[in-house]
Amino acid sequence: MATNEQALAALNAVAGPDGRTPLPQSGALSGLSIHDDKIYLSLSVSPDQAKASEPMRLAAEQALKALPGVTAAFVALTAERPPQPEKPAPAPVAQGPGLDKVKKIIAVASGKGGVGKSTTAANLAVALAALGEKVGLLDADIFGPSLPLLFGLSGKPKFSGEGKLLEPFVKYGVKLMSIGFLIPEDQAVVWRGALVMTAVKQLLRDVNWGDLDILVVDMPPGTGDVQLTMAQNTSLAGAVIVSTPQDMALIDARRGIAMFNQVKTPVLGLFENMSYFLCPHCGGRTEIFAHGGAKDEAEKHGVRFLGAAPLDIQIRETSDSGAPIAAVAPDSPQAKSYFDLARAVREELTKQARRAPVFSVG
Ligand code: ADP
Repeated sequence: MATNEQALAALNAVAGPDGRTPLPQSGALSGLSIHDDKIYLSLSVSPDQAKASEPMRLAAEQALKALPGVTAAFVALTAERPPQPEKPAPAPVAQGPGLDKVKKIIAVASGKGGVGKSTTAANLAVALAALGEKVGLLDADIFGPSLPLLFGLSGKPKFSGEGKLLEPFVKYGVKLMSIGFLIPEDQAVVWRGALVMTAVKQLLRDVNWGDLDILVVDMPPGTGDVQLTMAQNTSLAGAVIVSTPQDMALIDARRGIAMFNQVKTPVLGLFENMSYFLCPHCGGRTEIFAHGGAKDEAEKHGVRFLGAAPLDIQIRETSDSGAPIAAVAPDSPQAKSYFDLARAVREELTKQARRAPVFSVG
C-alpha cells in the first residue's frame, strides 16, 4: 500500500493552480486518503478556476496512479470559495450567559483556505491549556469545520442541566465546540449570511464555556463579508494570522491584517505554517520556499512574528487522526513551534491588557 508520504512526493511533480508551486505546498490540497490500492485526493480551487484546473487534476491522477501498488486514483476538484453570502445586518453579538466568565476571545484567521489555520488553532489551544490556561476552542469555520476531525469527535453536543446551554466537548484539557456539530457539512456553504451570523452568535453565547482565560475562535478563511461581519461582531481581544511563506498566501495575509485593522482588533502577530520541510527519515530541514517570507511581511506591517511550524508529515497525520501533535507529542520539535506560539500569544495579550482595556466580556 502506498503511504501519504509517497503520495505527497509524487504530487511534488505536479504544479498547483499558479502553474509553478508544487501541489503539496500550493494550498490547493484539501484532502488525501489512501484505502488499500486506491487513493482519493481533493483539490480546492475557486469556482472560476474549475475549468482551467482540469489539466492539474488529470496530472495529479496520473502521478498518483503511477505509484507502486496503486490501481486507481480519484482526484476531485472542490470549489473552495463559495459565492459570498449576502451581507447580513450588522447586529452586535449579545453577551450571553455562556460567555459570562470568558476573559479573552482571540481569532485565528487566514487570508485563504488550506494554509493550516485550523491545525494551528487546535495546537495553539492545546498548548495554551498545557501551559495552565483555561482554554476553549470554537470552530466557526462555516466553509469547512474541521474541529471534529482534528479532535476525533463525533455526535451531537448535549444540553446542560436546564437545557438552555450547549455543553462543549472536552479533550486534551480544551473545551470544544464546532459549527460542524450543528449542521451537516455539505450544507454549510449554502447558508446565507444572516443564518451564519445566527449560528455563530449561538455558538458564542449559548455554549456553556464556563470559566475561561482564553477562547480561541477558528475563523472561516478569507476576508469577505462573512469574515468581516464576524470580526466586527465578536468581542475580540486580538487575532493571529496564519500564512504559508508563498507570495500569494502572504498577499492574502496582508488583506487579513487590513481587515482586523479596519475593525480595530489588534493583530497579535503572524504565524508561518509549512515554513520548511522536516524530513521524517533523516530529521533534516529543507527550506523549500524563500524561508522568512512571513517574518519580513510581519516586520513590514509592524506586527509581531509569532514563529513558524514545519511542513511535516507527523503534524498532518496527528491532525488527521484526531490527536493534535501538541497533545500527543508535546516534547517533539514540531510541538515546540506551537508552544512557542502559545507563549508569544500570552505575552501579547498581557501587553494589551496593560496598554488599554480595549476589550471586556461579561
Ligand atoms: P485551513 O484551516 O487553513 O484550511 P487545515 O489546518 O485544515 O487548513 O490544514 C489543511 C491540511 O494541511 C490538513 O490536511 C492538515 O493536516 C495539513 N497541514 C496543516 N499544517 C500542516 C503542516 N505544518 N505540515 C503538514 N501538513 C499540514
